[in-house]
Amino acid sequence: MAKQIQAIRGMNDCLPSQSPLWQKVEGTIKQVVSAYGYSEVRMPIVESTHLFSRAIGEVTDVVEKEMYTFDDRNGDSLTLRPEGTAGCVRAGIQNGLLYNQEQRLWYAGPMFRHERPQKGRYRQFHQFGVEVFGLNGPDVDAELIMMTARLWRELGIDKHVRLELNSIGSLEARANYRQALVAFLEQYVEVLDDDCKRRMHTNPLRVLDTKNMAIQEILRGAPKLSDYLDEESKQHFAGLCELLDAAGIEYQVNERLVRGLDYYNRTVFEWITESLGAQGTVCGGGRYDGLVEQLGGKATPAVGFAMGLERLVLMMETLALTDVRRPVDVYMVTAGEGTMMAGMKLAEQLREEVPGLRVMSHFGGGSFKKQFKRADNAGAVVALVLGENEIAENNVVVKDLRGGEQITMSQDEVAAKLAELI
Ligand code: ATP
Ligand code: MG
Repeated sequence: MAKQIQAIRGMNDCLPSQSPLWQKVEGTIKQVVSAYGYSEVRMPIVESTHLFSRAIGEVTDVVEKEMYTFDDRNGDSLTLRPEGTAGCVRAGIQNGLLYNQEQRLWYAGPMFRHERPQKGRYRQFHQFGVEVFGLNGPDVDAELIMMTARLWRELGIDKHVRLELNSIGSLEARANYRQALVAFLEQYVEVLDDDCKRRMHTNPLRVLDTKNMAIQEILRGAPKLSDYLDEESKQHFAGLCELLDAAGIEYQVNERLVRGLDYYNRTVFEWITESLGAQGTVCGGGRYDGLVEQLGGKATPAVGFAMGLERLVLMMETLALTDVRRPVDVYMVTAGEGTMMAGMKLAEQLREEVPGLRVMSHFGGGSFKKQFKRADNAGAVVALVLGENEIAENNVVVKDLRGGEQITMSQDEVAAKLAELI
């Protein structure tokens, strides 16, 4: 036998047994965003490498070590998108969607990061993201958070996620804070781990993100970002908190929350779960008022979030929220000379007459017993049986696969009967 070829490590197939849950999650998300009047945008999966290094920041984990970057046949450096915001901003600028306009957009699709694969962390994963352009108040920040809170309720996971919130202020405020933080960290150079030492000079705010407990302890004494916030950012944050309080959304202010990507300012937030172990962030977002200009557009306020779909699906599985609609309602069983064609014809007629009805035809013959077993495996609730006699009399047998009873009825009436299954 020829040697089997395997999928790339960290890149998974979504199998038929898993896709109904994925469809449920994706379908619920789409319903929720459209309830707020947002529109879908679809961007290419590959972009110029520059786009990401400029947008995300040279000294971030993503750009430093996680991107899938390669030269194409022309020698241009391309990158498989590690996230959606940069491409969305690029598309908005390039197509003239942003200048002096409001846009409420969403996207979904695969992202690629060369990380160490583990539960909840993959090399190809899927994000759903929302980006809003042209609005600078805390109202829209609050709407995005309310939208995510609604989604958790619709998915039934709202009791298992909590919201962390912070303001990281203006670029200038952060620059001042950065100086104070570096001065503080310099006192502890001896005890910092290599990662923190490196970040201390390249991206010191990321030191606040460390998972190293000993360093977290030291950081308790560090200067606080909130003491460096500019007045406008403080007001923006107070406005957001007030709106969330009014909406009844609980949150914890986490002063250490800075987020991994460089482009954020003011509001940052994360939804975190304890149900998934180490990979606990299911959704992260914030404001990025400087990014449009940084990527060559006119200054435009912007705010957005992205959530990891694998982590949501995993959560639903962990919480046993996997009850999804079966893929088949009706299974068409045929027996005898020339019945197959009649079966396919009746199935077509039913698809026409009962929109939404899922009819699967049996192929390959075999005993009734075998066919009913297939019907069961397919998850059908009803089997339709066509033999030569039924066809001759324009009848069909309707067999309830749960209760077992069966009745014979005219083919002309069966559509009305099956419509009850929808
Ligand atoms: P983490 O701290 O878990 O690495 P991140 O800050 O790198 O997350 P973002 O860039 O904010 O993540 O992406 C938003 C969301 O996408 C995350 O909250 C997570 O749910 C999901 N995500 C990010 N990286 C991965 C990955 N490698 N595999 C699966 N999901 C991911
Ligand atoms: Mg990461």
